[in-house]
Amino acid sequence: MHILGVRVDDVTYQEACDIAEALIRRGGAHQFATVNPEFVMAAQEDEEFRAVLASTALNVPDGAGVVWAAGRRGLKLRQRVAGVDLMLELCALAARHRWRVFLLGAQPGVAERVAAALVLAHRGLIIAGTYAGSPRREEEMAIVARVRAARPQLLFVAYGAPAQDKWLARNLPLLIPAEGEGLGGIVGMGVGGAFDFVAGVQKRAPAWVQRANLEWLYRLMRQPWRWRRQTALVRFAVAAMLESF
Ligand code: UDP
Repeated sequence: MHILGVRVDDVTYQEACDIAEALIRRGGAHQFATVNPEFVMAAQEDEEFRAVLASTALNVPDGAGVVWAAGRRGLKLRQRVAGVDLMLELCALAARHRWRVFLLGAQPGVAERVAAALVLAHRGLIIAGTYAGSPRREEEMAIVARVRAARPQLLFVAYGAPAQDKWLARNLPLLIPAEGEGLGGIVGMGVGGAFDFVAGVQKRAPAWVQRANLEWLYRLMRQPWRWRRQTALVRFAVAAMLESF
């Protein structure tokens, strides 16, 4: 379904993992995005971002607000699929299939801590590389070369939206493995603050807060400077309500 013009796919964690597996086997480059109200509102004014979200292989319903808006339109999305949790599920799958995982983004040192935590949690997981880098255009070619050399099947990019999603749309096609150069395809996903959560740089909301659909409020309280960004939530609620009428 579409919410204010942005496609949201009704998938569970399991289905998202199955889709990733099928795409990696099939070959080529495939992008996943984690749609939340901030994404939807940013896409209203940002044509490039809107086009990126229209061309992705999968847009998971990352935000509780998205699930709510779909419900108002009469479609009950079966699950909220939080980007950080999907990343962890995909890493579990990667360990089973011996896929190579690359972690790009966040502040220097954070991706390395995420790698250490992931390897501890999933025996046999192959971290093909970690790098903070930045989404700046000047660095793009060098970063692409670095990731390419690591030959990952899964690439997680933590530059925040929409930079990470635009970065992937531009560069993922350049990361398709060449003939005979390892396993089929590559799946890339923008994961926002997920590295910070897994590395423990930021504390994730307790499970009960997540279940109460109040993770956004928890983040607002811990990072008050977010208030300006989170006005998007209010604008989203109003626009989604109008759309449903
Ligand atoms: N980030 C980065 N380079 C940049 C801007 C952001 O590596 O130029 C990282 C930042 O360190 C954080 C993530 O991108 O780890 C964005 O996190 P945020 O919580 O803002 O993302 P959200 O989950 O809200 O999309």
